[in-house]
Amino acid sequence: MEKSAALRARAERLFPGGVNSPVRAFGAVGGEPPFVERAAGAYLWDADGNRYIDLFGSWGPMILGHAFPRVVEAIREAAGRSASYGASTAAEGDLAELVTATWPSMEKLRFVSSGTEATMSAIRLARAFTGRKYVVKFEGCYHGHADGLLVKAGSGVATFGIPGSAGVPEETAHFTLALPYNDEAAVEAAFAAHQGEIACVIVEPVVGNAGCIPPGRGYLQALRRITKRQGAVLIFDEVMTGFRVALGGAQELYGICPDLTTMGKILGGGLPCGAFGGRAEIMDQLAPLGPVYQAGTLSGNPLAMAAGIATVGYLREHEAEVYSRLEYLSARITEGVAEAAAAAGVPLTVNRVGAMFTWFFSAEPVRDFAGAARADTRCFAAFHRAMLDAGVWLPPSQFEAAFMSTAHTDEDVRATAEAARGALAAAV
Ligand SMILES: *Cc1c(COP(=O)(O)O)cnc(C)c1O
Repeated sequence: MEKSAALRARAERLFPGGVNSPVRAFGAVGGEPPFVERAAGAYLWDADGNRYIDLFGSWGPMILGHAFPRVVEAIREAAGRSASYGASTAAEGDLAELVTATWPSMEKLRFVSSGTEATMSAIRLARAFTGRKYVVKFEGCYHGHADGLLVKAGSGVATFGIPGSAGVPEETAHFTLALPYNDEAAVEAAFAAHQGEIACVIVEPVVGNAGCIPPGRGYLQALRRITKRQGAVLIFDEVMTGFRVALGGAQELYGICPDLTTMGKILGGGLPCGAFGGRAEIMDQLAPLGPVYQAGTLSGNPLAMAAGIATVGYLREHEAEVYSRLEYLSARITEGVAEAAAAAGVPLTVNRVGAMFTWFFSAEPVRDFAGAARADTRCFAAFHRAMLDAGVWLPPSQFEAAFMSTAHTDEDVRATAEAARGALAAAV
C-alpha cells in the first residue's frame, strides 16, 4: 500500500484529517483508507493496484456501476459543448421531465448542486410558505450539513459520537425538534407542544444515515395525516432513497404523496446534482416568482444534467429488469453474510429495503437510532478492516447503508460471503 500511504501523507498536510468529507477518513473503523485510482462496474482499484468489490457506490449514486458507458458518453459529449453556460438549457427540462413523469408529487422542481442545498432550500421554502419557524426532524436522519439540520444528525455525526456540531448557534438549533424515528406519538406530542409553530416535518422515509432503518407499518401514513391536519409541510428527503428503493423512490414504494421532496445522489449519476420540488403553489414562492431567495452559479450544470439524463433515462427504460435484479442480488448478498455470521456465532441483524441495507452487529431488531446505537461498533470495525483486506469495501461506519449496483454479479455475491466467513471468524 505504498502509493496510497504517500498520497495519504500529502493529503493530511493539505486537508483537515486528510479528507474532503469526514467519514472517508475511516475514523470509526480504523485502518488506512486506500486512495482510489479508477473504478469500473462493481469494482474499485486503489493506487497500489488492489481491486475491491464496491459495496458503498460513492455513497449511493452509482446504481448502474462505475463508468457505465452510456453515462460516460453523455458526459463526454456534453463537455465537448462546454462545461457550463450560466444560462438555461434544454437538458434541464429533459431531466426535469424524466423526474416528473415518475414522481407525481413533483409538480415543479429546481436543480441545485448537492443534497445539502436541496434540503436547506426546502426548509427555507417551507418556513416561508407556512410563516412558521420550527422544523421537526428525526434522530439519526441526516439531511446534509446546513446549520439547522445538524441536530442528532446520524451519518458522520453519529459515527464520531457527537450530538450536533460546534459552530451552530443555540438560537439556530433551538428551532429544530429532533424526535425518535418510527414513533408516531412523539410527533403528535411535538405538534401539541408547539401549536401553529411547526413549519415542516423532514424525514428520510427509509433511514439510511443511521444504517438502514425501514419505516414501521403505517408510520409514513401517520406523518402524512398529522402534517396535513396541522397545516405543516411534509418533506421527504429522498436524496438517498430516490431512484434507489424504487424508480419513484420511497414515496412510490409506500404510496405517500409528500408536499416537498429533496433529491441528489443517483439524480446526478455521480456528478454534483440535487433537486427539490413538489406542490406548485409552494414552489412558486421561490424567486424570481416569489419572495424566497435561492440561487446557484452551477445549478442545472450541463454535465450533471447529461449524467442524470443518462442514468435516470436508463433506469426508466429498464425499470422492471433493474429493480428486480437489484432485489435479487441484495437479498442474496445480505443472506450470504447473515449465514456466515450465524456460522461464526456472531449476532447480526439485517435491515434491507431493496438495494439499500445494513448488517447491524446487534442481536435485537433495529427500528430507530437508539437501536442502531446499541450495535457493537467495535465488532463492525474489525469486520470492516478484515473485509477490506479480503477485497470488499463496505461503507466505513456501522451508521451508513450499503448499496448494490446492477453491475454486481453472482460471483461478487459469492466472493463477499466467502470474505465474510473469514472476517467474522476473525472478528469474534
Ligand atoms: C447524502 C444525503 C444528503 C446530503 O447530500 P450531499 O449531496 O452530500 O450534500 C441529504 N440527505 C440524505 C438523506 C442523504 O443521504
